[in-house]
Amino acid sequence: MSYDETDFQIFTLFTDPDNWSKEKLMELLCRDMPNEEHVNAYCHISSSALVIKPEDVRSTLGDLESLPREILHKTLEELSFASIEIFSRTCRAARLLVDKVMAYRELIRFIPKILTIFSDTRLMQYHSVADVRQELHFRYCRSCGDVGTYLFLPTCERVCLTCLNFNQAYWCLPQSQVSQAFALPDNVVETLPVQIISQSSYRSTEEWPELDTTQYQLVAVKSALQVAINWHGSQAKVQEEGNLISPDKFADSSATECEEGALFRYLREAKLGPLAHNPSLDPPPTRTLVHHEFHGLASIWIPFMPHRGTIPEKLYFCGGCQNIVKRFDPNISDRVLGQMDIDPGMPFQEIRRRLLGKAWKARTWDEMVEHIRSECSGGRGMMFEEKMAAFGAVAG
Ligand SMILES: [Zn+2]
Ligand SMILES: [Zn+2]
Repeated sequence: MSYDETDFQIFTLFTDPDNWSKEKLMELLCRDMPNEEHVNAYCHISSSALVIKPEDVRSTLGDLESLPREILHKTLEELSFASIEIFSRTCRAARLLVDKVMAYRELIRFIPKILTIFSDTRLMQYHSVADVRQELHFRYCRSCGDVGTYLFLPTCERVCLTCLNFNQAYWCLPQSQVSQAFALPDNVVETLPVQIISQSSYRSTEEWPELDTTQYQLVAVKSALQVAINWHGSQAKVQEEGNLISPDKFADSSATECEEGALFRYLREAKLGPLAHNPSLDPPPTRTLVHHEFHGLASIWIPFMPHRGTIPEKLYFCGGCQNIVKRFDPNISDRVLGQMDIDPGMPFQEIRRRLLGKAWKARTWDEMVEHIRSECSGGRGMMFEEKMAAFGAVAG
């Protein structure tokens, strides 16, 4: 047997998930597992706004007492979070009634920060308990159909991490820029849901001591575009009108204006409906669109609750893929890319986008194992290194 064949056999042996305990493999390769801390990391917010003291007011529901409980519960589910909170503050009986609404209890249990988040972001009046509950029980990204693990707050839709980053419909824009970006009069812009957010509300101040504490008033691109289409009659008309007032890349504008103009053009091209596939499979935009501050925000992690289940589904991100992205160098081997079904002939930016798509894909444990077996060169590399290190430690 040649040396190469022996090497190959050792590699195969070390990187076969069957030769690993589930715990060990999980510890090595499962990253950024969405969990309760994830919510905290994204939303370091105070919960002072929602303390309810109903003792000192009347404690019957008055005329509402005559209605069947199921109808009352159904009605409360359809109210916005703002209305439900106002109602629950009217009296002790109302508070108790709200606490008994199953859908409400379920949300508080599985997304404990939902009230505080909607309150602090000023989105309470836009969504109902029924809206959020529907997303809690829906597994897939509303944008691309992959498994989704985030709730996009302004529109209350479940989306995946890739769509939050790569589908510009799920980006946000400061309210002050919406009128220029979508050719809308100020009084129309004022009707759009605005989310208040600062960097410290989604990043931990321990990890990022130099945080920008500015409070931004953000509008979702998707909401703004929808209103602009209604206002102008069609998306083509929105683009036409927008191009007239956005800084022109060919005119004598400053670099910042050109960049902003390119960004606004790109936002006006957003798709409101579902995409044909996960956007990591699209080539990146060719325009001079290098960075946009407000993408991936306006969202919190949300678990998926199967309809008849009692515990949320466990999902993982692949640390092997994340490792490849982190260590990514443009000379990554064709073999590694080939195994991951990525054409090595593609431009560097496009390869990186596809790798990110794999790193941000949420998988069940069985899907993780299958992914490691069938395509994850990054994961197998880590498994091999780990076993070799253990082997070296024993031999040494
Ligand atoms: Zn998606
Ligand atoms: Zn992987």
